[in-house]
Amino acid sequence: MAGISRRVAAITESATLAVDNQARMLRAAGRSIISFGAGEPDFATPPHIVEAARQACQDPRAHHYTPAAGLPELRAAIAERHRLDTGQALTPEQVLITVGTKQAVAWAFATLLDPGDEVLIPAPYWVTFPEAVTLAGGTPVPVLGDADNGFRITVDRLQAATTPATKALLLNSPSNPTGLVYGREELEAIGQWALEAGIWVVTDEIYRHLTYGDHRFHSLAAVVPALTDRMLILGGVAKSYAMTGWRVGWMLGPAPAVGAAANLHSHLSGNVSNVAQFAALAALQGPSEPLQAMRAAFDRRRREMHRRLAAMPGVVCPEPEGAFYMFASFEGVLAAGPNGPGPRTTQELAATLLDEVGVAIVPGEAFGVPGYARLSYALSDEALTEGLDRLATFLG
Ligand code: GLU
Repeated sequence: MAGISRRVAAITESATLAVDNQARMLRAAGRSIISFGAGEPDFATPPHIVEAARQACQDPRAHHYTPAAGLPELRAAIAERHRLDTGQALTPEQVLITVGTKQAVAWAFATLLDPGDEVLIPAPYWVTFPEAVTLAGGTPVPVLGDADNGFRITVDRLQAATTPATKALLLNSPSNPTGLVYGREELEAIGQWALEAGIWVVTDEIYRHLTYGDHRFHSLAAVVPALTDRMLILGGVAKSYAMTGWRVGWMLGPAPAVGAAANLHSHLSGNVSNVAQFAALAALQGPSEPLQAMRAAFDRRRREMHRRLAAMPGVVCPEPEGAFYMFASFEGVLAAGPNGPGPRTTQELAATLLDEVGVAIVPGEAFGVPGYARLSYALSDEALTEGLDRLATFLG
């Protein structure tokens, strides 16, 4: 449409949120919809966190601005948590509180990139990563992981995609959409390579608490400490504490970079809701049992979804190692239905599933890998079972 800037016209709506909105609208119109769409825990926020927010609501001190970069207590608590987890000591000035981790992603690239700078993005990737790079004037460079090895990225693949314009690498482990979790040696190799290549690493650690089985989260800051001068670490409370709607995320990194991002934040956002920041503080300082209980439920659902999905004709899916997503190949399903040609792409398959059996999935096209689709298992056990029943019926 005339009048829209080229910059904004170049991006598309978030596919994950679009699927979620569509599911909500169909439900509001009276249809029974099971959504494997947006990655959002079905649990309520734990009561001690809600109580901290309630108290903040009643305290006039929490009715006003905090410093734009965040509530000092919360910045200090995040720095302390990071020190305990990684051994890397941060000052509160090295912590910026953002409107969800999504804003930290946008601010990271806005802070680092000049026009023409390239960012290596392992594919499949979360829908927002390339758009945030584009909006910041950079060029996203997808680097396809090895499909036969859980879409893992290797130094060889990264090196082959590197040019003199490469400014940064984006890493997201545990990964959205694949659920892969990089092991310590893998991370070490990638981190050493980035160190020698002289590029920045933006590491999105929002799913750090959600790993399963023998898989463990490793922070790149702990594995390759020499890289921390050129590393921005992104995180938040949304996924671990069932706090998606509270919108509290953060960026950690070298003081000059975080300070520059905080300047940007002071003009384009201002502080995150004061009450939500107190809630996040309670989440970080409170008991870890609610988090462990939710993690155990995700693990149970992960195993159940994998067991059933892997048995469906035409579907291939490795067992996810972390986060709460299954990234399955539907290539064996496309155009091979028993009643003649079916959907030819996963985009069409997603539309058909929604239309015919009321099941929402996010097509792989949104994550840079057609032929696959992402299914979130962060929904209730009952809904999960019902959704898988419908899928099994559809796929025969
Ligand atoms: N990050 C979640 C997802 O990928 C929530 C939706 C979004 O912000 O994209 O489903």
